[in-house]
Amino acid sequence: TKPKPRYRRILLKMSGEALMGNQAFGLDPKVVNRIADEVRQLHEAGVQVAIVIGGGNLFRGAQLAALGMERVTGDHMGMLATLMNSLAMQDALEQIGVPVRTVSALRVDEICEPYIRRRAIRHLEKGNVVISAAGTGNPFFTTDSAASLRAIELEVDAMFKATKVDGIYTKDPNRYDDAVKYHDLSYQKALTDNLGVMDATSIVMCRDNHMPLIVFDMTKAGEIIRAVFGEDVGTIVHA
Ligand code: UDP
Repeated sequence: TKPKPRYRRILLKMSGEALMGNQAFGLDPKVVNRIADEVRQLHEAGVQVAIVIGGGNLFRGAQLAALGMERVTGDHMGMLATLMNSLAMQDALEQIGVPVRTVSALRVDEICEPYIRRRAIRHLEKGNVVISAAGTGNPFFTTDSAASLRAIELEVDAMFKATKVDGIYTKDPNRYDDAVKYHDLSYQKALTDNLGVMDATSIVMCRDNHMPLIVFDMTKAGEIIRAVFGEDVGTIVHA
């Protein structure tokens, strides 16, 4: 018998930088296509996939503010950056035959649908991948918060956060040889020990709503598939 995915519906969060590859700015089509192909495999296995993508490869509000721009305007640019990344992922998925809709927290009606919870859920039920763009639609939030929010609203079974390390460590594994990886931990510990998993807003939202989170290394090919099929990869954070 064919192995079955452990999760029926998931939310996959990746940063904008994850799509940048080794470039200094923008998108690496090789990376975008590789991730799109892994999403295709999940989709073919019957997993309902919602995606949230960051914008840090293009613009971040806080960085623009540090250069003198008004913070809210910077955040608007950051949210538009997430929309651009979402369109790139939508295109890559469509080109390999995966049905997909980008839905946006800010209205850009000529480009994509607005985010309407019931419609987004319907898309997932029909087997469309849903890319939720423009973060939460509000300044002073992050796309991690947007991912937590959408994961809870769309009633996914678990949220998967793509990173460049294979889980959460006691300290930065790139700087300390004696850093130890957690197999699993609670949101409360992640908060108190300041483990830098996500910002506090995102963590508290997942904690209070019992949304499990799997932190895994997306630079490793196929890792998301192993994670969704229930292999022991990365670190699981629970309420
Ligand atoms: N942003 C925002 N509200 C949101 C989500 C994102 O204002 O709900 C802006 C914010 O300026 C942020 C930028 O969009 O810096 C890009 O998102 P993020 O930094 O989370 O991207 P990532 O680090 O995941 O690539």
